[in-house]
Amino acid sequence: MAAPAQTSSTSVYAEFGLSPLVNASGIYTDLGGSCLSPTVWRAASEANRTWVAMPDLLDRTGHAIAEMIGAEAARVVPGASAGLALAVAACMTGDDGRLMEQLPASTGSRTDLLMQSGHRYKYTRCALMSGARLVEVGAVSTTPSDIEEALGPQVACVLHPVHLDGKPGTVPLKDVVRIAHRAGVAVVVDAAYMSYPTDLIGHYGRQGSDLVCFSAKYFWGPNAGGFVYGRKDLIRTVAALDFTRFESGPHLVFGRAFKMDRATVVATTLALREWLTMDHDGRWANYRARAEKMLSELKQRAEGTFEMVCFTLDERIVPEPVNSLFVTPSPSSGLTAIDLEQRLARGAPSVRAVAVGEGVSFCLETVFEDQDAVLVDRVVGALAVPK
Ligand SMILES: *Cc1c(COP(=O)(O)O)cnc(C)c1O
Repeated sequence: MAAPAQTSSTSVYAEFGLSPLVNASGIYTDLGGSCLSPTVWRAASEANRTWVAMPDLLDRTGHAIAEMIGAEAARVVPGASAGLALAVAACMTGDDGRLMEQLPASTGSRTDLLMQSGHRYKYTRCALMSGARLVEVGAVSTTPSDIEEALGPQVACVLHPVHLDGKPGTVPLKDVVRIAHRAGVAVVVDAAYMSYPTDLIGHYGRQGSDLVCFSAKYFWGPNAGGFVYGRKDLIRTVAALDFTRFESGPHLVFGRAFKMDRATVVATTLALREWLTMDHDGRWANYRARAEKMLSELKQRAEGTFEMVCFTLDERIVPEPVNSLFVTPSPSSGLTAIDLEQRLARGAPSVRAVAVGEGVSFCLETVFEDQDAVLVDRVVGALAVPK
């Protein structure tokens, strides 16, 4: 299985004057995130055809996810960003309904969100929608004792973006957990894209993290889906803070603004199950086979350097496992990587690829197989005209 659906569709956007594009960038929210497999799509469509009590649907799918990954508890949320806001909020208020209701005002709540200075990243913005106050720990680098000194009863949690774990000048998650727990403070982990290898998903919980946030876009779930898992009491608070029971429950909570429909909740849960049971070796073999075929064609038809590489979720080029073609324009063409990226984005059909250093990455994970030929044609065309 490559991208779960293997043929593209072109008609639906014409009504709005839009042309579909060939997404050779990978999974990006601005390009629509993921797409659902036929099986998940069918289940979402069934969910559309019947009503269900949303509080029950959220409770039951949460149980199912917790069971799948071996966690105490879990909750579907509309993406990792919403998950971060809800998770931090839960750490601020605990189960005090009055404190929950007043968020993002935080009088009487634990207010501080600690982050290591080397962990500065853009989704902090979403965590702060809870009303927490950001406290950056450490100047250029952060030491365990910097964290120890910042801890106290005013601290709601430490937020740890785990894709930055082990970065020089930062304290690793396992030490952060030990230090924070000694002071009775929770650790919230952003693991949005750490869903492969699939063992990683439960790993952060086993390391002692209190709440862990994932985005469904990285496991072929809905662009507007995700989940949080972790400690039972904190997941209960996340549930009390989310959109369910705003109509029927005691508190008017800010999580009401993060609403989901039935189809999104069902699709997130079933996409995760599919991801955990998928033949991932077959998935990687598919990218490699297509890359080999496209590479040999490009070498015959165009000037430049063509390689098979891995384009990582944090936008680096590494050798393995292959999921991408890497094209470097020949010096004689006068084209830079950015020129090539822009030419491809502007032409028809628009091909979206990512310039990295001297070359451009074409990630095949999000290219439908019936678009491989047009992708090659467009690259050949873009390289043929010197600057
Ligand atoms: C995409 C992403 C998010 C946000 O996830 P959504 O599900 O799109 O809200 C958060 N953190 C990281 C590291 C991400 O890559």
